[in-house]
Amino acid sequence: MNTHWQELLANFAVVVLFVSAWTQACGWVENRAPGSRSIMVGLMMGAGSAVLMQIPVELTPGRIVDLRSTLIAVSGFFGGPLSGLITAVIASAARIASGGSGVWPGIVGITVTTVIGISGNRLLRGRQPRPADLILLSAATVVGALSGFFVSGSSQWKESLPEIGVQLSVMVMISTLVVSFMIHQDASRRLVTRANHTYRAIIEALPDSLNAKDREGRFLAANPATAKLMRAENASDLIGKTDFAFYPAKTADTFRADEIAVLAAGSSRIFEQEITRLDGEKVWLSTLKTPLLDESGAIVGLITHNRDVTNQKRLEVDLAETQSRLSIALTHMADALVMFDPNGRLIFSNAQYDALFSDMSEVRAPGVNVREILRASADRGEETGIPAAKIETWLETFRSGAQVDTDREIRIADGRWLHVRTRSTLDGGILAVLSDISARKVAEQALSELNARLEVLAMTDGLTGLLNRRAFDQTLRDEYARCQRNDEPLSLLMIDVDMFKAFNDSYGHPAGDRCLRSISECLVKTLKRAVDKSARYGGEELAVILPATSFEGAWHVAETLRLAVHALAIPHSHSKSKIVTISIGVSSVKPATEQIGVQELVGRADEALYDAKAAGRDCVRRWRPTSGRDAAREVARVSDRRHAG
Ligand code: GH3
Ligand code: MG
Ligand code: MG
Repeated sequence: MNTHWQELLANFAVVVLFVSAWTQACGWVENRAPGSRSIMVGLMMGAGSAVLMQIPVELTPGRIVDLRSTLIAVSGFFGGPLSGLITAVIASAARIASGGSGVWPGIVGITVTTVIGISGNRLLRGRQPRPADLILLSAATVVGALSGFFVSGSSQWKESLPEIGVQLSVMVMISTLVVSFMIHQDASRRLVTRANHTYRAIIEALPDSLNAKDREGRFLAANPATAKLMRAENASDLIGKTDFAFYPAKTADTFRADEIAVLAAGSSRIFEQEITRLDGEKVWLSTLKTPLLDESGAIVGLITHNRDVTNQKRLEVDLAETQSRLSIALTHMADALVMFDPNGRLIFSNAQYDALFSDMSEVRAPGVNVREILRASADRGEETGIPAAKIETWLETFRSGAQVDTDREIRIADGRWLHVRTRSTLDGGILAVLSDISARKVAEQALSELNARLEVLAMTDGLTGLLNRRAFDQTLRDEYARCQRNDEPLSLLMIDVDMFKAFNDSYGHPAGDRCLRSISECLVKTLKRAVDKSARYGGEELAVILPATSFEGAWHVAETLRLAVHALAIPHSHSKSKIVTISIGVSSVKPATEQIGVQELVGRADEALYDAKAAGRDCVRRWRPTSGRDAAREVARVSDRRHAG
């Protein structure tokens, strides 16, 4: 081998050596700061360039070249701008230090090659270079290596170009191609290794069991979670064994049958199963089985992914049990129950609810909005008491939320009474419980009617049906207060049947009672206004309260009554006119302005009645300041005379 070839090989050896050192060093600095790799590459390629300049190749006598362009180009291309620049600086410094006539062309060559390398790196924009990129880089590097010849002022340099240009180009092309493929391969290998490392870390840390088996069901690989699931010491304990070593035969048989099915089908399958371990413990697994393919696509085994879903299954079972208990409770509860979601859609109703509204079951179905149900209910008059013209307003009030937490008693069209308790649920929906309270309502109604009747009885006089004395006192007080408030007059008539003792004596007490009843009925019939109230004051004395009635009005009423009793024409032999007559005393007051109380009003009417008796009976008298006293004496005198006679 001549010197020329030895030098060339030495140059190649240096290039390959430095690039090998680079790929080796890349492994060390991989996990350091990003800049450290660039600096390392820059320094190494710079050093390599400097060494190459020391062992040049003499292509023809006096014409020496080296392969520095290769290192400078790959530095920028694979290492990036920082690497490229560092290499360029070192290479330039080494070239300047060597001196000689080729310094300037050498610097130009270094600069152009650096620019080519860095530009290639930028053009890749972070992607992995492809073979075509590497060929292009090698060709461009040749241009960089030759560029110095073109800028050299020396004719010697230019003349040497045809002589050595082709050889130099081939050298640079080959060396750049070789090392760039070397670096590329190394980077690809590193990527694959890193990816594998990442996958392994994920699989190791995976809480789910993941494993691969051959066609016979023997474990090829398994992660620690698989070992844990199968109660094995560690994952390597599984390798080469089958499920029969770890599960009861029945369970392992099931697994194997599933595997054979997946192998036969050639496609993935997901299933849930409850398995029994050797120690008898039961576990629920969610399993994915998928065929394991080799590079040619042939099925060589199975990949299995298991997830322990025991807790989830337990929760599902608990939930189902709770739901069943709840459903039993809801079905057997006495009340009707309905639930609406936050959007107002019916989501649940029990049988009692459906039975309650059986003729509208299609409207009260799941999914129907509460608005439609209420509208249909109102339209069909299901709930009584909703004013037809105001259904929309009523719906709006119901929906507004103010009505949500309510307790209402409603009456439905078939006459039943319902107690409706409406409550907001935690999720913003509505829950309504409807109880049939018809029986209670009937009892309540009967009771209140009874009470009303008792009240009437307590206020009514048994013989005449008029207000009794207690009711009279109360009514007079009430009317007095009302007239006082309204600044109206109040009048009172005191009525006494004339010579009634004698009537009783002549016709008997029962006839006296009938007479009193007839006079009372006559009183009620004759009084026109509803506010006028008649009462039995005591014995055969009656009273009429005339609210908002002046003395003149009262006088008129009294006369009318007196004549009405005349018209009854009840025979009375001891009477002057031979029929039953009445005497009436009238008193009036304006409670708002006069200082006359209820007692005094009654007293005055009574005194006026005495006046009427004194005046010969069967007449009406009003109260005067002199009423009563003289009249009483006169009555006594007349009475004495009669008894004496
Ligand atoms: P005078 O014209 O002065 O009123 O004579 P009089 O006989 O009616 O006298 P007085 O008003 O004092 O008589 C009351 C009588 O009314 C006494 C009683 O016989 C009779 N009397 C009172 N309450 C009842 C009753 O509930 N039924 C009957 N039948 N008679 C009664
Ligand atoms: Mg009397
Ligand atoms: Mg009398």
